[in-house]
Amino acid sequence: MRQVLLVRYGEVHLKGQNRPYFLRRLTENVKHAVAPIGADAWLSDSRIYVSGMADMDEAVRRVTRVFGLHSVSPAWELDKDYTEISAKCLELTRELKGTFKVMARRSDKRFPMNSQQLNMELGGDILENNPNLRVDVHNPDYYVSVEIRDHAYVYIGEIMAAGGLPLGTGGRALLLLSGGIDSPVAGYQMMRRGVSVNAVHFFSFPYTSERAKEKVLELARIVGEYGAGMKVYVVPFTDTQLQIHEKCPDEMGTLIMRRCMMRIANEIARRDNAKALITGESLGQVASQTIEALACTDAVAELPVFRPLISFDKQEIIAIAEKIGTYETSSLPYEDCCTVFTPRHPLTRPRIEVVAEAEKALDLDALVRAAVDGTEEILM
Ligand code: ATP
Ligand code: MG
Repeated sequence: MRQVLLVRYGEVHLKGQNRPYFLRRLTENVKHAVAPIGADAWLSDSRIYVSGMADMDEAVRRVTRVFGLHSVSPAWELDKDYTEISAKCLELTRELKGTFKVMARRSDKRFPMNSQQLNMELGGDILENNPNLRVDVHNPDYYVSVEIRDHAYVYIGEIMAAGGLPLGTGGRALLLLSGGIDSPVAGYQMMRRGVSVNAVHFFSFPYTSERAKEKVLELARIVGEYGAGMKVYVVPFTDTQLQIHEKCPDEMGTLIMRRCMMRIANEIARRDNAKALITGESLGQVASQTIEALACTDAVAELPVFRPLISFDKQEIIAIAEKIGTYETSSLPYEDCCTVFTPRHPLTRPRIEVVAEAEKALDLDALVRAAVDGTEEILM
């Protein structure tokens, strides 16, 4: 008899013909998540199983982060023998108080008792063994689950996992990662839909400090834990910002800067084989996030720009940042390049032609080339 982690997957069952591919990918991702703690994972009979770990809590922590999973349950793996199953049910319920329901599921039809018989018999055994428990089939405090598959599995309750789709099944995208609260959450949200994400960070040394860069790398490390790590392309952005500041109208400074970010991101995405860009923008949050301003930025993007937070309130974004563990790091008070040359009266309803005209003061090709050539790649 051993303990295993029984893993249920979510939306994957909807994927029709791609289902075998999704399941293979998902199982690989679970294997990858538990390999560092010496455990292995395999797919069998519409469940994934994990075994071989010394620390079940750590296995739960790791597996519940894998996208594409619905929930997990630490379970006892037993022989398909009623006496053994009943003994384990009694052991697990001995200390409980309140109400319970037995939920038996017989996938192996060769087992001599059907689900209903198992529910009745095991329920009777548990009641007899523990006077503090009553049956409630509608809203019990505890579900005592018994599954008869290649072995018998017994467990109480389930722990919710991250949901979404298996990482890697949604292609690749490049996240514009600042040190703020929003962009790490935006990356997480896209990873949750199966997208592999690397990041680009625009770094304006010495206007932004070495510590501000460390903070961004730490954010990439935290978000990367939900996948297989994250590569960060650190782009030297000081020259671009200084030139914009010097040569373009102040009220368009942020817009032109964002268009320059997009142009550089186009090139980095090509290098990274990414098929979309991701930003942490949310409609109306700041002047550069009005519909007109976003249109002005999108006009120079050569790939689809995903903005998963577009409809989110700040409080909702913060709640996710807290959940995924980025909030504390994002809240460290280091400046971002966006805040260094902020115009006093930014345009909120820019016209693309007017901005494009103002940009002619810059040698855009040379700025983009120098930035891309000076880019440093750091794997977190
Ligand atoms: P965040 O909290 O993510 O910093 P924000 O609300 O502060 O976002 P902005 O500073 O206007 O908004 O930036 C909007 C988006 O542009 C960010 O979410 C991020 O995707 C991108 N961005 C901003 N600054 C940088 C940077 N220095 N490097 C890379 N991307 C950036
Ligand atoms: Mg920011």
